[in-house]
Amino acid sequence: MTDIDLNKARKAYNQQHASCKHRRDHSGNQIQFLLTFDEWLDIWQKSGKWAERGRGWNSYVMSRFNDLGNYEVGNVFIQKFGSNLRDSYKRAAESLRGRAMSEEAKRNLSISTTGKMQSKIWNDNIAAGLRNRPGTRCPSCGRVSNWCGWVARHIPTCKA
Ligand SMILES: [Zn+2]
Repeated sequence: MTDIDLNKARKAYNQQHASCKHRRDHSGNQIQFLLTFDEWLDIWQKSGKWAERGRGWNSYVMSRFNDLGNYEVGNVFIQKFGSNLRDSYKRAAESLRGRAMSEEAKRNLSISTTGKMQSKIWNDNIAAGLRNRPGTRCPSCGRVSNWCGWVARHIPTCKA
């Protein structure tokens, strides 16, 4: 077992706990963080990846299976941050499919498949898409939409 600085660990736990308060998963359910500190720490210790925990492309993060459900024992595992992102891209691409796609969305999908997944535009669209579920009210015109460009494109330019 790795030596873990418990103060640091407690802080990291609190941060992750807080960061998931207002999040919903891609099916629109509120994500709950149900792991106790001890459970959380245990999962990290068993993974052997505590020392490589973080935000970089090659560091490790706690993920939920299929990114669904709550953070709880049995539904989380430790994986590389990069592979976590790839899952998000895949899902966002799947949710875009089946809608009438804008030219921009098509372009962004083709960017993703040519390996430039970290492009700024693509990241912004994913973030907007995820932020938008189940709908964001435009502060200017008051309409609510979950259109994937709503937060990124409509709201900043709305003149109503
Ligand atoms: Zn508006």
